[in-house]
Amino acid sequence: MASPAVTSFSPVRDVCDYELLFDCVHCGLCAEACPTYIVTRCEMDSPRGRIYLMKSIAEGRIELDDDAARHLDLCLGCRGCETACPSGVHYGRLIEGARSFVERNHRRSLVDRLKRRAVSAIFPYPNRLRMLLAPLKLVDRLGLTAALRTIAPRTIRDWLDLLPSLEGRERPLASESTVAPRADAPTVVVHHGCVAQVLANSENLNSERILAAAGYRVVQLEPTACCGALDLHSGNAARARDFARANVRALKKSGADAIVSAASGCSVAIEEYADLLKDEPDFVEDARAISSRVRDLSSLLLDAPANPKREFRGRVTYHDACHLVHGLGVRDAPRKLLASIPGVTIVEMTESDLCCGSAGSYNLTEPAMARELARRKADNIVATGADYVVLANPGCEFQIAAELRRRGSNIKVVHLADFLAMASR
Ligand code: SF4
Ligand code: SF4
Repeated sequence: MASPAVTSFSPVRDVCDYELLFDCVHCGLCAEACPTYIVTRCEMDSPRGRIYLMKSIAEGRIELDDDAARHLDLCLGCRGCETACPSGVHYGRLIEGARSFVERNHRRSLVDRLKRRAVSAIFPYPNRLRMLLAPLKLVDRLGLTAALRTIAPRTIRDWLDLLPSLEGRERPLASESTVAPRADAPTVVVHHGCVAQVLANSENLNSERILAAAGYRVVQLEPTACCGALDLHSGNAARARDFARANVRALKKSGADAIVSAASGCSVAIEEYADLLKDEPDFVEDARAISSRVRDLSSLLLDAPANPKREFRGRVTYHDACHLVHGLGVRDAPRKLLASIPGVTIVEMTESDLCCGSAGSYNLTEPAMARELARRKADNIVATGADYVVLANPGCEFQIAAELRRRGSNIKVVHLADFLAMASR
């Protein structure tokens, strides 16, 4: 007798896109690519276990209790499992749906709620973040940061440890291109992000200057709204859609042929606008066009109209930011670009594509697992003997730099755009 079609069964709860759950054949080939499973060795902290959990909740076989919510919360959303999965499971879409379900149906502890609300109320809004950081800058200038650390509660101390230096982050290193691009050169816009434009704006500005030096016409985006990734990853799909609409309008108005972001999580979020706005007739066509224009900085530079001279001496190891490698599938281009710089020696690290624990705001809400993964990443970096770790995501930069600082290591953690700017000076 033929097995019943999947659609003949209606789930009792709207946890995620139910039919996508059936792409998983439970082979388990994703387990060793999953950072949380590697750390806990618990099946429910593996992709297969979480998929089983989502299905069981959807079918009403188990309740969304504290335990179930915990296993879902612990997922980094790194999508390492998607790269490893031979069946093409869209795990990213599944976990985004499940997170939204958890937010609607699960009451967290007070501390957890406060942490998540603080992240959600501050981080997507650059002016709020600037206001919050202003007194910290003053404390830093007065040399009182160490004193603040000793009196701050544990959570605040953990967050302070992740902060990069607050001085000089808004200045570019690359000089402005003096050569006008060809009138028919492709246009590029760099999306400045929300946290990135406050804490890592040199990466945005250097991306623009390097692209201009490589012959692209760089256009500006007015205004830049958060891409919505933070909301998508924390289960707030409604506000993610609000941000997506604002960005679709602004990106369309910019007329850019290519859209780049110094934060790979933002690039992937923009690439997913077509899916996020698929049920909105006023936006779906434009969203599709915008999503199809997302590119990564290194691939654009490898295809560039011009090839500016660069030279730099140093041993470099490259860390694959999850959303760049598992979301956009970009693995070789940054390495090729770095290898093309005379004087650079690339040394591969073990597990270069295993999440460092940063994962958007994960290191703020799940500090214990994030720290465990940062330690593992730092061990692998130190073992290379490299002078520099280059990466293409500010969140990974802060996370890895904090761990290397704790060890007193002098390995420098540098965003790819800043590294190329240093090499071009
Ligand atoms: S997204 Fe990352 S942490 Fe979550 S199940 Fe997949 S591999 Fe594991
Ligand atoms: S997600 Fe993919 S790799 Fe993992 S168990 Fe399911 S089918 Fe296998």
